[in-house]
Amino acid sequence: MMQGENKLATIHIDQTWNKRPLIISGPCSAETEMQLTGTAMQLMATGKVDVLRAGLWKPRTRPGNFEGVGAAGLPWLQQVRRLTGLPVMVEVATAAQVEAALKHDVDMFWIGARTTVNPFSIQELADALKGIHIPVFIKNPINPDLELWIGAVERIAAAGIEKIALIHRGFSSYGNKKFRNAPMWHLAIEMKRLFNSLPFIIDPSHICGNRTMLREVTQHAVDLHYEGVMIESHTDPDNAWSDAAQQIKPSSLVALLNKIIWRTEAITSEELHERLNQFRNEINKLDDKVLELLAERMRIAEEIGKYKKDHDITILQTNRWNEILERLSQQCSMLGLSENFIKQYFEVIHLESIKHQDMVMNKK
Ligand code: PEP
Ligand code: MN
Repeated sequence: MMQGENKLATIHIDQTWNKRPLIISGPCSAETEMQLTGTAMQLMATGKVDVLRAGLWKPRTRPGNFEGVGAAGLPWLQQVRRLTGLPVMVEVATAAQVEAALKHDVDMFWIGARTTVNPFSIQELADALKGIHIPVFIKNPINPDLELWIGAVERIAAAGIEKIALIHRGFSSYGNKKFRNAPMWHLAIEMKRLFNSLPFIIDPSHICGNRTMLREVTQHAVDLHYEGVMIESHTDPDNAWSDAAQQIKPSSLVALLNKIIWRTEAITSEELHERLNQFRNEINKLDDKVLELLAERMRIAEEIGKYKKDHDITILQTNRWNEILERLSQQCSMLGLSENFIKQYFEVIHLESIKHQDMVMNKK
């Protein structure tokens, strides 16, 4: 059967795809027909949700947890789609799941973090998706490796899928306390730079692992020009069969979304443009100065390298490095700079400086 048959006239995937911000919500897992239908009806009634998500096949890191209702949930989703007029979205990890979902009019797919890490699985999905026009949302891999995320986009794109979006759900980091999955915003920003034309969706639920930080993380993503959100919701979050701590009621979703300040990247007026340009010119001038100073610093490092070479002195002098760090950190608060930032910044500079000295010392 062709995907797309039996669709209600009210579901326009192109329109949904282009909607900004794109709001995706629904339970972590479909548990029962009643739970799924109840959640979907409440979400539809909010008028805020564009796509209904529900996990049927749940990849749990450890066995013994609820692993989803599987294909048994597909007719529920089909029914919910009919009842609410909302496009529905599931996670797929195998070709068999793709095939089963397409037979039940599923409108969109997402690829989970535990699948993005595996090129075999991604290729299997890409092969199963060939010739099928369906939006595919690719979550970042669980480990902080952009190459895997990029590879997944390349494989799915090579299968002819035109509507690809990226979901940032954070990265595993053993022992991390604040977040369930550390956002590592720098990686997402780099991915956004590389795939500027693909919609970027924040999944604060899996980043936070709790309800209290959802708003803060969502707002941060919006401030970084993300185009949408995927937030887990449930009629009875406390009793959810998976990810109970992070799911919220549809009414809380509305409250959360109402608090978000949506911002745009577009610079609309001439005046705004001019003022921003003034600021940017000032920044450019400062960046030029920083570059010149860095070049000068490296030139002196090379001279020191020559001198150390002539006197058989090691490049690294731990006491001197400590002294630099201490001296700089004392000035941080006075200058309104964070100690952590300055430490990281100078660690990179120090490493580069060692490289320059090494070049001189060992004539590379
Ligand atoms: C989910 O969305 O419920 C899920 C399993 O997500 P992730 O792949 O990000 O862990
Ligand atoms: Mn979940």
